[in-house]
Amino acid sequence: MYRTHNCGELRMAHAGNEVTLAGWVQTVRKFGSLTFVDLRDRYGITQLVFDEQLNSRLSEKPLGREFVIQAKGKVLERSNKNSKIPTGDVEISVSDFTIINSAVTPPFTIEEETDGGDELRMKYRYLDLRRPTLKRNMELRYKVNRSVRNYLDSQGFWDIETPFLIRSTPEGARDFVVPSRMNEGQFYALPQSPQTFKQLLMVSGYDRYYQIVKCFRDEDLRADRQPEFTQVDCEMSFVEQEDILNTFEGLFKHVFKDIKGVEMNEAFPRMTYDDAMWHYGNDKPDIRFEVKIQNSKVNNEVYCAALAGAGFKVFDEAETILMIAVPGCSEYTRKQLDELTDWVKRPQIGMSGVVNIKCNADGTYKSSVDKFYSEDKLKEIGSFCGAKAGDLILILAGAETRTRKAASELRLYMGERLGYRDHAVYKPLWVVDFPLFELDEENNRWVAKHHPFTSPKPEQIGLMDDMSKYGDIKANAYDIVLNGTEIGGGSIRIFDRGLQEKMFAALGMSKEEAQDKFGFLMGAFEYGAPPHGGIAFGLDRLCALLGGQESIRDFIAFPKNNSGRDVMLDAPSFIDDTQKKELGLTYK
Ligand code: ASP
Repeated sequence: MYRTHNCGELRMAHAGNEVTLAGWVQTVRKFGSLTFVDLRDRYGITQLVFDEQLNSRLSEKPLGREFVIQAKGKVLERSNKNSKIPTGDVEISVSDFTIINSAVTPPFTIEEETDGGDELRMKYRYLDLRRPTLKRNMELRYKVNRSVRNYLDSQGFWDIETPFLIRSTPEGARDFVVPSRMNEGQFYALPQSPQTFKQLLMVSGYDRYYQIVKCFRDEDLRADRQPEFTQVDCEMSFVEQEDILNTFEGLFKHVFKDIKGVEMNEAFPRMTYDDAMWHYGNDKPDIRFEVKIQNSKVNNEVYCAALAGAGFKVFDEAETILMIAVPGCSEYTRKQLDELTDWVKRPQIGMSGVVNIKCNADGTYKSSVDKFYSEDKLKEIGSFCGAKAGDLILILAGAETRTRKAASELRLYMGERLGYRDHAVYKPLWVVDFPLFELDEENNRWVAKHHPFTSPKPEQIGLMDDMSKYGDIKANAYDIVLNGTEIGGGSIRIFDRGLQEKMFAALGMSKEEAQDKFGFLMGAFEYGAPPHGGIAFGLDRLCALLGGQESIRDFIAFPKNNSGRDVMLDAPSFIDDTQKKELGLTYK
C-alpha cells in the first residue's frame, strides 16, 4: 500500500496515528539536526520531519525538489503551527522513507506564484498543472462540468455524441481538414460545432440533446482564443425562444449557486441587439456599471441641439457624435485628460481626440472647447447626458462605425479605471433580436449573423425577397452575456426545406451548391421535422469568468499558444514521406 492518507487530510484528530504518505517534495529545509520536508499531492501539503537518525540517509542521497517519496511516521502536534494550510496544526515525525522516483530540477518554481514565462509553462504543462493555481482551475472546471450535467439531466436532456470527422459546418471560421487515406484526394472537416447533427437529432425525435464537446475553428487567434475549445451544446424541440431562455437561465442560476453559492433570484435582464448597440456600442454590454453612451448625433441626425451650429468644425462635420458622462471625474488633471487623449488616439481605437466637459462640483462648467460653447450651452449638453455635478463628459466624433466602437471601448476603459468592473460581481443578461444578416464589407456580400440555420422572425420572412431589406430582418437569435463577455448564443432554427433553400440563396449559394453541401439536412426536413432551437455555451470562458480570471488558457489542461501550437508536443509537425504517399498528398 503506497499510502494510508493523502497530503491534505491530516488534522489534530489524527495525532498519535501511524500513517504513510506519498507525494512530491515541494521544499527541503535543514534546521540544526532536523530536516523539514513539505510533501505535496493533489489534496494539499503536509510537513514531514526527519530526525538525526534519518539525516545520515538523507545526506547520502539528498532529496531534491519534485522527488516522489513515500514516508511512514507518527502524526504529531506542531509546535509552530501554520494557519495558512489546512494541515498546518500537525506534522509527521518520519520513521522510515523510500525514494520512489527522483526528479531533475524543474525549469520553474512549482508554487502559487511562479517564475516561469507562458511558453515555458506550456512546454512543461505537466509541471505547471502541479501548481495550486492551475489545480484549482481544473477542479473548478470539473465542478462546472458536473453542475451543468446534473442540471441538464434533471431537465431530461440526453448526452449524445456526434462525430468529429465530418463535412463543413459553417460557424463563420475556416475549417480544419483531415485527409482521408481510404478516399484519396478527399478530406474530412472537423466540426466548428455539432450544429447540423443536433438539428438532425431533433428530426429523429430525441427532443432534448446536449453534449460537452470540442469544436474546431481555424481562426486568427486574437486575444485569448483557442483553435479547439469546448462548448456545452444544447438543442430542444417544440420550443419557442421564450422556452429556451427560461431553460438556460435556469442552468446558469443552477451553476452559479453550485459554484459560487450565489442565488440569482431575479430574472436576467433582456436587451435587444439594437438597444445594446445604441446605449453601449456593442452587442455584449457590461452592465456592472450604469454609464451609457449618449447619442448626440448619429449618421448626421442631430439629437442634442446644443452641440450643433456653434461653429466647431469637428462637431459640425462629424457623421456621429457620442458622449459618456463619467461619474466623479470632473477634477481630472491636465495630465489625466492627456492620458485619455493618447488612449483614444491609439491605432486600435483610431480617434483623433476626445473633447471634455467638466461638470464641476460647484455647478460651473468648463470645457476643452469653451471657445465655441457658452456655459449655458455646456449646461444644456450636460443635461442631455443626464450628467451630475462632479461628472466628466467625454465626447467622441467621427464616422459612425468607428466612433461607436471607440465610445464602447472608452466606456469600458473608464469603467476599468474607476474599478467598476469587479470580478466578484456577476451581471448576466440576454441580448435578443439579433439581425439575421450582416454585411461583409470587405467582400460586399451578406453573411449570416449567427449561422445559416437561424430562423428569421416569421413576420419578416417576406423581406427576404428584397435584398435592400436584408439589413432590417431580425432573427430569433439570442446571446447570453456575462460581465461584458458573450458566453453563449443560439437561435430558433429553420425547419422547413423551402425556407432553408431561401436562406442559402440569400447568402449567395447556388441551388446546386446548397444541395451538395446541405442536401442531407434539407432532405431530413422533408421527413417530418419538428420546430426546434438551441444554444451553445463556451465552457472555457465560463470557467474563466467563474474563476475571476481573464485568460481561458489556464482553465484548459493542455492549451495551445497564440500561434495555435502545442509547444509541449511540438504540434503541428511535418509528416514523413510514406505517410504523405499513403494520403496521396504532394507539397510544393
Ligand atoms: N452552433 C452555434 C454556435 O456554435 C450555437 C447554436 O446555435 O446552438 O455558436
